[in-house]
Amino acid sequence: MISLQKPKRTNNFLTNVNSMQTEHYALQFGAHVFNESVLRQYLNKEAFSKISQAVLKGTTIDRVLADQIAAAMKTWALSQGATHYTHWFQPLTGATAEKHDAFFDRADTGEPIVKFGGDQLVQQEPDASSFPSGGIRNTFEARGYTAWDPSSPAFVYGTTLCIPTIFVSYTGEALDYKTPLLKSLHALDKAATEVCRYFDKNTQRVMATLGWEQEYFLVDKDKAASRPDLILTGRTLMGHESSKGQQLDDHYFGSIPTRVLGFMQELEQQCWLLGIPVKTRHNEVAPSQFELAPIFEEVNLAVDHNSLLMDIMDRVADKHNFKVLLHEKPFAGINGSGKHNNWSLATNSGVNLLSPGKTPMSNLQFLTFFINTIAAVLEHEALLRAAIASAGNDHRLGANEAPPAIISVFIGEQLSKVLDDLENVSKGKLSPQEKTDLKLNVIGKIPEILLDNTDRNRTSPFAFTGNKFEFRAVGSNANCAKPMTVLNAMMAERLRAFKKETDKLIDSKGMKKDDAIFNVLRDQIKNIKNILFEGDGYSKEWQKQSAERGLSNNKNTPEALPAYVSEKSIHLFESLQILSKRELEARFQVDLEEYVLKLQIEARTLGDIARNHIIPTGIRYQNVLIENVRGLKEIYGSKFSPLAKEQMAIIERISQHVSAINSGVNNMINSRKKANKIDDIHQKALAYCHDVLPYFHQIRYQCDKLELIVDASIWPLAKYRQLLFMH
Ligand code: ADP
Ligand code: MG
Repeated sequence: MISLQKPKRTNNFLTNVNSMQTEHYALQFGAHVFNESVLRQYLNKEAFSKISQAVLKGTTIDRVLADQIAAAMKTWALSQGATHYTHWFQPLTGATAEKHDAFFDRADTGEPIVKFGGDQLVQQEPDASSFPSGGIRNTFEARGYTAWDPSSPAFVYGTTLCIPTIFVSYTGEALDYKTPLLKSLHALDKAATEVCRYFDKNTQRVMATLGWEQEYFLVDKDKAASRPDLILTGRTLMGHESSKGQQLDDHYFGSIPTRVLGFMQELEQQCWLLGIPVKTRHNEVAPSQFELAPIFEEVNLAVDHNSLLMDIMDRVADKHNFKVLLHEKPFAGINGSGKHNNWSLATNSGVNLLSPGKTPMSNLQFLTFFINTIAAVLEHEALLRAAIASAGNDHRLGANEAPPAIISVFIGEQLSKVLDDLENVSKGKLSPQEKTDLKLNVIGKIPEILLDNTDRNRTSPFAFTGNKFEFRAVGSNANCAKPMTVLNAMMAERLRAFKKETDKLIDSKGMKKDDAIFNVLRDQIKNIKNILFEGDGYSKEWQKQSAERGLSNNKNTPEALPAYVSEKSIHLFESLQILSKRELEARFQVDLEEYVLKLQIEARTLGDIARNHIIPTGIRYQNVLIENVRGLKEIYGSKFSPLAKEQMAIIERISQHVSAINSGVNNMINSRKKANKIDDIHQKALAYCHDVLPYFHQIRYQCDKLELIVDASIWPLAKYRQLLFMH
């Protein structure tokens, strides 16, 4: 609860906000959101209850109701100072898209009027032919339309009313991230609710919850402006390491620099106004790296909030003369950024299904969801890996700082022991006599055990952290909808299967319900051990061992993505009616195209900087040295040689680097030309990965060496130390 006491007004020199304002913003949480309380205010009782039902149960909203809501939304938005409205959606570019229309219109008589009704609210047809569609919508059938998602509230952002929508083609295929996400949530709700009813007959609904942790870098805007690579690709394509990096570990959780704090405060205020419940902020491991995390929310809302957040960050950073870097690996040699996705399931009565309870029965419920999650991850580990694949994340995964590219699950020593105990309780068929105290004891003890479960394995991509799973391999720039859709879908499939297996034992073997549940779970424990891993995910042994276990280890995006269109994945998505084969194939294309385009842009940018900035700078400095040598010779005559020895050595080294850079760029361009001729997009992506990308490292290496010997005052790019340590 927010305290309504009048705050003391104190001005703090460290901040540009006084505490009065801080209190004010906390009270203003959601002030720019068309949320439930606004709806209640603007709609009559009947309309309000209808829309609530639609949100909760997905029932349809009729024309009359849509008109009523639109009228309410219009009045409210105008009172907030909105001049425009937009359908706000998340196309497959990963960013958010919006096309603003003014509320202003002209009546037939020519009079200026304000126009916004059910038609404008419910559906729009943005000219969307240039959004990626993977061939689903060629330009002849370019129409796609957006449709209102009433489960995510509209909000006023700046002077625009933003209405969250899905984006689908005219023939009904999804062209965005939200459509399959909503379908996956629906499938999961259905499957999980049925399983929950084993434990509580009154369960109405199960929702998935997500708490993301957004990591990012902040660099000075002017410094960033000197780097075409940062501007065009979001990462530095070259730059020698700073002599101080993160070795001292002095940044992590350290005091936040004043200028950064100013940025964070304004960011938080904007988030609160827009109903994003951001809660924690701190320094991360690398210098100039930070993290922001909210209180968790229902997945669809949390995804929208994260997408919105990334946009707000950009704007607020700009205002504070920062550039925010959301790229997964903006700097070589120091940690990259991720976005941990904390995921759990909650019932309509607020029970967290991944939180161990106090009674044996509630712990059996916990174990049901816990074990089934692990089994689902085991079944679809390759798909889960594909869901977080991107050109940016490739630099991070498996690079000894982030989770490895091999998906495994960490549950901690204590819970591993619980599983062992359960597995060994009784081998044969469960009988009423065998329903021993031991079993219930094991189950009953879980919460106490968990209290001690503080060992956190930071190298695990998918870890159980007490009352939720934390998917850590997600990239900082990702749209969380992608991994969430996959996770929800595979869990829905698993729970359906679990229900079937359990019912079979009950129906055909006459087993009691909890015996049947227990039996099915116990059988699963043996299998899921294959994906459980408690050791060091970075180690060589794990690479070997995971291969022996048959786990996939797809090191890069083009190798990871085919899992999207494997028979198993197609079956998963089709049977749950989340995505069709055609839609999956389209997504596969879009992701591959994006990969190739990203690498193309990086290659061009790198070639340009190397040739047009770095080589000329090297030569300029070389000329200074040549001039110096010539002068020494003029002054000292035949005795000049020892005096000019080092300069001459540097002159030669510059020539060597210049030549290596130039030939590196030539080779890179040639390999690109070859790759560009390949028609098959998957083969092309593989060629970019295996034949083009390696030149990036070679060219960079030479540029970085040159940086070490050239006069700093003429070096054209901001250096790592200037980017990372100058706040
Ligand atoms: P850390 O992982 O950094 O130690 P916490 O465990 O406190 O931090 O939580 C990290 C994130 O997990 C937060 O965003 C929080 O909202 C989220 N979280 C906590 N409980 C749940 C839950 N039941 N479902 C989803 N996310 C959750
Ligand atoms: Mg965490």
